[in-house]
Amino acid sequence: MQDALTQQQQKLDSLQTADKQHFIHPFTDSKGLAEKGTRVIERAEGVYLWDVMGHKLLDGMAGLWCVNVGYGRQSIVDAVAKQMQQLPFYNSFFQCSHPPAIELAQKIASLAPKHMNNVFFTGSGSESNDTNLRMVRRYWDLKGKPSKKTIISRDNAYHGSTVAGASLGGMSGMHEQGDLPIPGVVHIAQPYWYGEGNGLSPEAFGLQAAQALETKILEVGEDNVAAFIAEPFQGAGGVIIPPSTYWPEIKRILAKYDILFILDEVISGFGRTGKWFAAEYFDLQPDLITIAKGMTSGYVPMGGVIVSDKVADVIKQDCGEFTHGFTYSGHPVAAAAALENIRIIEQEQLIERVESDTAPYLQSRLQELAEHPLVGEVRGLGMVAAIELVKDKELKQAFDSAVGVGTFCRDACIKHGLVMRSVGDTMIISPPLTMTHNEIDELVAKATLALNDTYEYVQGQ
Ligand code: PMP
Repeated sequence: MQDALTQQQQKLDSLQTADKQHFIHPFTDSKGLAEKGTRVIERAEGVYLWDVMGHKLLDGMAGLWCVNVGYGRQSIVDAVAKQMQQLPFYNSFFQCSHPPAIELAQKIASLAPKHMNNVFFTGSGSESNDTNLRMVRRYWDLKGKPSKKTIISRDNAYHGSTVAGASLGGMSGMHEQGDLPIPGVVHIAQPYWYGEGNGLSPEAFGLQAAQALETKILEVGEDNVAAFIAEPFQGAGGVIIPPSTYWPEIKRILAKYDILFILDEVISGFGRTGKWFAAEYFDLQPDLITIAKGMTSGYVPMGGVIVSDKVADVIKQDCGEFTHGFTYSGHPVAAAAALENIRIIEQEQLIERVESDTAPYLQSRLQELAEHPLVGEVRGLGMVAAIELVKDKELKQAFDSAVGVGTFCRDACIKHGLVMRSVGDTMIISPPLTMTHNEIDELVAKATLALNDTYEYVQGQ
């Protein structure tokens, strides 16, 4: 036993050393990481992960909001292996196509809102939003309105890490690095009632936040606005769910002005809300939907843009060449993984189960945590939720960021065998859609232990 442990420790040490020497991690303070050492995850099954030391962790984040069907799906492995043998790669440029990408485009069109029947494939969510930016501008050029170039987005939105993605996003920490946003992208306030509601009711605040869109359209000039982009609920920004009045008011504004609407469903797509797409959940009619993550459950990288008939008719018919595309657009192996992933979701009726059973159970169990002295608000929908940690519940007063409450709680979760992400002092949950009642109970029990540890920690501050 001791020998096995020593061997595991040696393996971890050597991996951590090599990691420190050669691996630049995304969204990471490399110096801080080198001091702490990386957590090396080695294998996974169902909703569980194991690190190199053999510690078992319940994955409350589905990897990075993406492993919707859970880990260890042999049928996806088989589909990928078979496709690799038959046709590991071919492009979809130059008059070429291949069966998996054709079949996947057709399948996604059948699942998407009725007015959306085309897909442009990419390798990630970021590439998809780059595609959106180019496609909406191209659309308006072809419509004879070349001045319509500006995209309106929102503060604290996340739309990816490429130059266009980070510009469309509203993360100030990202804009500070590399002179972003690029020209032609502007931002309005986010619908974050808990943090920015300023004493208004959620309903009044939701209306006010939505009306910022109309104000911005008038300020920039309708003739200069190409599109509005938004996540149905902000994910990386802290699972911010707009008040009930927000989307209806945005819909009213979108109907009034001639601009396109891009709904970024990289997190919400493929079942997370208990519908295939959150467009259905919130009754929205986007012109373009950004997809990635749950499209393949993260087994292999893939993204795309679902395109409405209104936009596709112009891009496909009046366009000549749309000078845009990626080597891996519609990659056959990724398409095979996506098709099998979708087949599993359908066969196991995962979305129906989320809607009628597991999501209501998860949300009601999580609401119990709202009683905890550290918790200011628990909010969520479908299989996604946030727990806001605050210094004073009554005053909704945040902790000083130097206290590092969210990071402490995240580490405490790991100690108790649970992965929850922290966004500032907000704890985030977005588990695989396969999570059962027992596993939800385990998640809540472990989260409670971590909250208790965190409470003890802040008392000593
Ligand atoms: N849009 C949203 C809403 C996202 O959450 C993300 C990733 N978290 C992206 C775009 C970017 O996707 P990717 O990391 O695959 O480029």
